[in-house]
Amino acid sequence: MQSNVPLAQYTSLAVGGLAEQLYICPSSDELQFALAETAGKQSWILGYGANVLISDTGLPGATLFLRGGEITRDGDTLIADAGVWWDEVVQFAIRESLWGLELMSAIPGGVGAAIVGNIAAYGQAVADTLAWVELYDRTNGETRRVQPSELDLRYRYSAFQTDKFRNLVILRTALNLQRTPTKELEYQVAIDVVREKGYDIGTLTGRREAILETRRRAGSLWDWHHPEDYLHTAGSFFRNPLVSDEAVENLMAFEEHGRTAEMLRKMNQLHGGASKRVSAAHVLLAAGFQRGQSWGPVRLHPEHILKIENTGGATAQQIYDVAQEIVQTVKAKLDIDLTPEVRFLGKFEEH
Ligand SMILES: Cc1cc2nc3c(=O)[nH]c(=O)nc-3n(C[C@H](O)[C@H](O)[C@H](O)COP(=O)(O)OP(=O)(O)OC[C@H]3O[C@@H](n4cnc5c(N)ncnc54)[C@H](O)[C@@H]3O)c2cc1C
Repeated sequence: MQSNVPLAQYTSLAVGGLAEQLYICPSSDELQFALAETAGKQSWILGYGANVLISDTGLPGATLFLRGGEITRDGDTLIADAGVWWDEVVQFAIRESLWGLELMSAIPGGVGAAIVGNIAAYGQAVADTLAWVELYDRTNGETRRVQPSELDLRYRYSAFQTDKFRNLVILRTALNLQRTPTKELEYQVAIDVVREKGYDIGTLTGRREAILETRRRAGSLWDWHHPEDYLHTAGSFFRNPLVSDEAVENLMAFEEHGRTAEMLRKMNQLHGGASKRVSAAHVLLAAGFQRGQSWGPVRLHPEHILKIENTGGATAQQIYDVAQEIVQTVKAKLDIDLTPEVRFLGKFEEH
């Protein structure tokens, strides 16, 4: 345990004030010790800090980062500790010739948060393969297993985001994989990369290479080992919103590539799995925001507008203010409610 440690170095956005007490836990067992030691205190459980905006005023109480753990195989099921870097699980599966995670290659972060946010990419989601989750209950110090049906897993959502689950910490999970492909690659942007580079997407390694290159082009890579080599973002800042049919028609009017309503609907279905879920990037463009638009050191990514970037020296409050401006402008101009995918931790000022 260390006291008064700057948190910016532990987050992908590279912002955040001091942790009153900081624990870095290299395994689920060590996390359990730290949880027992901090029982009754205000505490914050984090993985790799790739999906949070931590306030400049820092976090009171104990901040626990779970980073590290083991992966094992039992038949076609992989069992991974919550602190394992997600991409290590994907690579493990690929080495073992198991399908089901390959399209989620290189999503930054740990296994625990992967369940909390039901991470997804290019048509695959964690919920598709989840077998069970082992939890530590902070209210009584007990551990137990839960089934996916108890977790309300939906687009970028799980019950872990509710108050009811606030005291439950993920310790490990099991993922049921397959010996044959489970999904085709349907995303045009990735298919274009495959055509250009000639990757063999009939193989697991070929699919991984295609995804890595597609993610590299979209600025969607981040590795906690070398954060200085990557942009400071938290990935897509907002969820793709659910909107009314009328709003969908309004949005079409702003379609910059001349795509038909039918094409856009198909794209949007792929994005969110619901017929009226639209691309948040499209919504931002329709509301008048531009790729590469900046507010001092805070910028919308030049290609992927949904990523809010700290180009150097931004404060958490500046990033928060830009996010609020986007939410309010989108509401005022398009009557669409945008909700952040990124979690705000600590205190922020409302303007
Ligand atoms: C460049 C970039 C690209 C991205 N691309 C994608 C993408 O393609 N698809 C996608 O879905 N996401 C994407 N993201 C978002 C991010 O990768 C995921 O949200 C990831 O799951 C964050 O993991 P983390 O360990 O860093 O979580 P953290 O930021 O550390 O925590 C996120 C939340 O999970 C909770 N949490 C963490 N561990 C536990 C645990 N053990 N038990 C209970 N709660 C826990 C925390 O309290 C917090 O609320 C991207 C992010 C970046 C920076």
